[in-house]
Amino acid sequence: MKFSPETTLKTFSPTPRNIPVNTAIGIGDKQMALNKVNHYYNEGYRTFKFKVGLDRALEESILTSVCNKYPDISIRLDANRGWSLETALSILADWKQFNPEYCEEPVQGGIFEELSRIKTTTGVPVAADESVRDIGSARRLTEGKLADFLILKPSLIGNISDFLHICEMAQNSEIQVVVTTALESAIGRSWVYALASMIDNGLAMGLATGDLFEYDIADDSNLFKKGHLCFDSVMLNTIQPDSEKLKNLKSVWEFNI
Ligand SMILES: [Mg+2]
Repeated sequence: MKFSPETTLKTFSPTPRNIPVNTAIGIGDKQMALNKVNHYYNEGYRTFKFKVGLDRALEESILTSVCNKYPDISIRLDANRGWSLETALSILADWKQFNPEYCEEPVQGGIFEELSRIKTTTGVPVAADESVRDIGSARRLTEGKLADFLILKPSLIGNISDFLHICEMAQNSEIQVVVTTALESAIGRSWVYALASMIDNGLAMGLATGDLFEYDIADDSNLFKKGHLCFDSVMLNTIQPDSEKLKNLKSVWEFNI
């Protein structure tokens, strides 16, 4: 709730630049997953995040095919806390072969100490997502160096000053930050883009989520080119609700009520 009013104060310094972005691939059907990778690869994306944690054999088969066909891409895994510690240790030791950049939230309960154990045992870097939502959790993760990456969703952290404070704590602990959206509309996403523009660490950010919407209040797809968000702070004033799209949304809501 604090996020929206505070963003209007514009107390931060968005930086015009091209920000590399990743795309998320759901793994439920092998052909669909491969088609999606192929589509985004041809669009210029080179970082792909795979949602895993449900079907080891299927996921491994898809990862094997993708890595064989596209040796130049970077793989990220997100288990959304789908594994027990034992399963995470077993699978990630195996999947080290795919050279994943990191695995987000490998274990049920997100036990912080287990994150660092997975990292040291399997050699796969770990990322905290659900486990970092406020200053307290960020302090625990950074002071203990329990994760290699923090996946920061500014809308869920709730305000800009805490977001910036967490970024600073991460930097002091040599932990990398990846800024991602949390399924905001195009207007909300534009402010996340602005915050992401301030973190220039060369990592792909999780910002290309507009195509997950069947209906949105504006279309920002033209900002994404060759796997990058072409960010310019001027765009903060140009992404406005489209009156036709708002009308469509209204009719969809009325139909579903
Ligand atoms: Mg995640």
